[in-house]
Amino acid sequence: MVYNENMDGKSFALLTFGCQMNVHDAERIAGILLEAGWREVQPEEAEAVILLTCCVRESAEERLYGRLASLRPWKEERGILVAVGGCLAQKEGRRLMERAPHVDLVFGTHQFPRIAELLEEAAARRICALEMDGLRLADLPARRRENFRAWVTITHGCDNFCSYCVVPYVRGREVSRPLGEILEEVGRLVAEGAREINLLGQNVNSYRLREEGRSRFADLLRLLGREFPEVWIRFTTSHPRDFDRRIMEAIAETENVCEHVHLPVQAGSDRVLQAMNRGYLAEDYLRKVEELRRLVDGVVLTTDLMVGFPGETEEDFRRTLELVERCRFDAAFTFIYNPRPGTAASRLGDDVPREVKLERLERLAELTRRLTAESLRRRVGRVETVMVEGRSRKDEKTWKARTRGNQLVHFPKGSEDLTGMLAMVAITSSGSWSMHGELIRVC
Ligand code: SF4
Repeated sequence: MVYNENMDGKSFALLTFGCQMNVHDAERIAGILLEAGWREVQPEEAEAVILLTCCVRESAEERLYGRLASLRPWKEERGILVAVGGCLAQKEGRRLMERAPHVDLVFGTHQFPRIAELLEEAAARRICALEMDGLRLADLPARRRENFRAWVTITHGCDNFCSYCVVPYVRGREVSRPLGEILEEVGRLVAEGAREINLLGQNVNSYRLREEGRSRFADLLRLLGREFPEVWIRFTTSHPRDFDRRIMEAIAETENVCEHVHLPVQAGSDRVLQAMNRGYLAEDYLRKVEELRRLVDGVVLTTDLMVGFPGETEEDFRRTLELVERCRFDAAFTFIYNPRPGTAASRLGDDVPREVKLERLERLAELTRRLTAESLRRRVGRVETVMVEGRSRKDEKTWKARTRGNQLVHFPKGSEDLTGMLAMVAITSSGSWSMHGELIRVC
């Protein structure tokens, strides 16, 4: 959606590549620019095109350079400003400017609060702003894409240094936001109409661990649950090492904390997990999953899985398949390992042939597809409370909604607009990725 509040100001367009953190940064950037008098338009009309990048996955990087190339004619014909921010900008810095000489501004992950002033300066001279001098999120405006759903950053950066990941280098060390700041932001969002709050961080489970020597995430869930009983609370991402019983109990005992945990395991072989520097072994993970399923009734468990990490043998891969079977994941995102320059794993070589990686990916995806379909099938016949997201993009006559477990449900649309509302839906059938249902009543 494009907002056009100020018809006189300079115009910008935002293009986002990558993860939810980037999407949320984009909301902040748009909020700052709108407040500074800019207006948001489609890229074809914009005076400044801002690309927000991700370097966790190689595909996002390739798409960025492809998109940058496509902006070159607009630069030559209309003299647009081209700005690149986010993780890849932080990592590549001046190299990015050399590779794409039509880029006017490169700004790092801690610099986006200065975006308005940086764009002004970049109109006069090319700028590369990469200082990682701390990110203050308080008081920054945001332009939200959806009224009923909001994202609230609780930690930024990461201390984990998983050997394949660039995040600690490009987003900096983990910093937790003060509790008062989070409460204030959630309160404001709820007052503005948010019905679902998503707590966001690279590792939400270590909230305030660095600052207080002890994770306060379970306390945060309970507090937000008490203070804002009318909203659903979700969180992402969890790190298995820091995901403990206190957090599980907080989910189980806090009525409005949704029963969905995204707990990336990455691999099932201890040898690979150690080489990844993940900080847990397969048995630790399995024990936590067992405990979670026992404590949190009906929890939906999703994960990330990587194949082809350096040195991964067929035996290692089989352990991943075994772990996936035992955990019965409700859904999984599967990836192929790609070395990211500058990470510890990139020095290990990339010795699993591409065709082996692809074959493992396919076997793994086949298994996770089956588990997802089974998970959805198990819900047929139940009544689920869902949050309605809006009309289905594929079928105008259908509502698209999500259960507390974050599973997708479609149901026939009546005349009343239910966007952002809670509804009770009887699940009547399921498919590979979603369920179908009948509306019982709006809550
Ligand atoms: S926990 Fe690991 S994979 Fe996740 S952001 Fe931190 S270093 Fe990267």
